[in-house]
Amino acid sequence: MASPVWHPFTQHALQPDATLIAHGEGAWLTTGDGRRILDAISSWWVVTHGHRHPAIVAAIKAQADTLDQVIFAGFTHQPAEELAAKLIAIAPPGLSHVFFSDSGSTAVEVALKMALGYWRNVGKPRSRIVALEHGYHGDTIGTMSAGARGVFNEAYEPLLFDVTRLPFPHAGKEQETLDALEAACRRDAPAALIVEPLVLGAGGMLIYAPQVLSDMARICAAHGVLFIADEVMTGWGRTGRRFACEHAGITPDIMCLAKGLTGGSLPLAVTLCKPEIFEAHRSTDRGKTFFHSSSYTANPIACAAAVANLGIWETEPVGERIAQLSALQGEALAKLARLPNLSGARQLGTIAAIDLKVNDAGYLATVGLQLYGAVLERGVLIRPLGNTIYVMPPYCLTADDVQYIYSAIENAISSIA
Ligand SMILES: *Cc1c(COP(=O)(O)O)cnc(C)c1O
Repeated sequence: MASPVWHPFTQHALQPDATLIAHGEGAWLTTGDGRRILDAISSWWVVTHGHRHPAIVAAIKAQADTLDQVIFAGFTHQPAEELAAKLIAIAPPGLSHVFFSDSGSTAVEVALKMALGYWRNVGKPRSRIVALEHGYHGDTIGTMSAGARGVFNEAYEPLLFDVTRLPFPHAGKEQETLDALEAACRRDAPAALIVEPLVLGAGGMLIYAPQVLSDMARICAAHGVLFIADEVMTGWGRTGRRFACEHAGITPDIMCLAKGLTGGSLPLAVTLCKPEIFEAHRSTDRGKTFFHSSSYTANPIACAAAVANLGIWETEPVGERIAQLSALQGEALAKLARLPNLSGARQLGTIAAIDLKVNDAGYLATVGLQLYGAVLERGVLIRPLGNTIYVMPPYCLTADDVQYIYSAIENAISSIA
């Protein structure tokens, strides 16, 4: 009988049945029938130290034995308190409060609601959002609104709110983006600018310069527009620093984290903010309350996993691993880039990307699916974004693993060419 499961971002009429995965360890997955697959995209960008890191597994087990779940309004618990304090200690300086939710999308929804709540509560209601072209912030109605429009959200377009879109800051054209931001700040009195710092992930691993990030933050500050950094993908070492904002030395007014927050073990997200945002909601007027909650806000087991993740950053040479992986990726990418049908090689930290030269570009380009299948046959999981091939592996990768990934990609490209 056919499976009743409806998979995400999957065209069930065209794609083969989902592969059953029975086991995961480090960078490797094992299928139900015993095949090994190297997880070169960190299971959709979430797994940082590798699958089933012993410290995270131990923390989950211990917490499950103590407190599994408790309402987070009126109650708190040690893993959430410890995690919040530790996050504030490592986040860009100046962030003071932590609001919990359970996915990247909810972290961004919370950020947008915080921004609008701030303006309403200080008596100057504002609702316009400014965002980057090609941006991606999630799949809920609000986050789709902030993100790029395309085949993903055509059906929902009538429900999406209008945002002011800035051109992507391509190298050499950064000033256009900054001028557009300046103009939007003057014209629209926006509530906030939301950006993915330095790397636009789902938009095609598009990379821009740290200087643009700090210039955007400066322009927002000059106009009193809130600056939201969506670090859901870029956080937790992906770009070579713990948070991408560190490359530019900036502190956003609001920052969203999810994906690697628990090392990729359990769903958990946080939205961090500056004191002004929290203070604007703190009032004897109950109407100014921040009205947002998820049933599982700050689930204790997920928080314990996140605390264990932070412990790994303290006790293991994570920074060195990231630097080493970045260097290995750089070498392998440079070699791959010599293939004649590839162009636009780019890399930041552990993220490497390159484009396949094709006639039908765009997310639905069939070449991406073909390549996905051909690489998977060779024991490696990648998931091209249209004609963009990228590798974003866990940090536990060995030099041999890196070699294995890039040979699989190279062979697969020749096989489908
Ligand atoms: C993945 C992603 C999201 C959404 O996160 P989910 O946990 O999938 O809801 C939001 N923003 C960015 C930048 C992302 O990469």
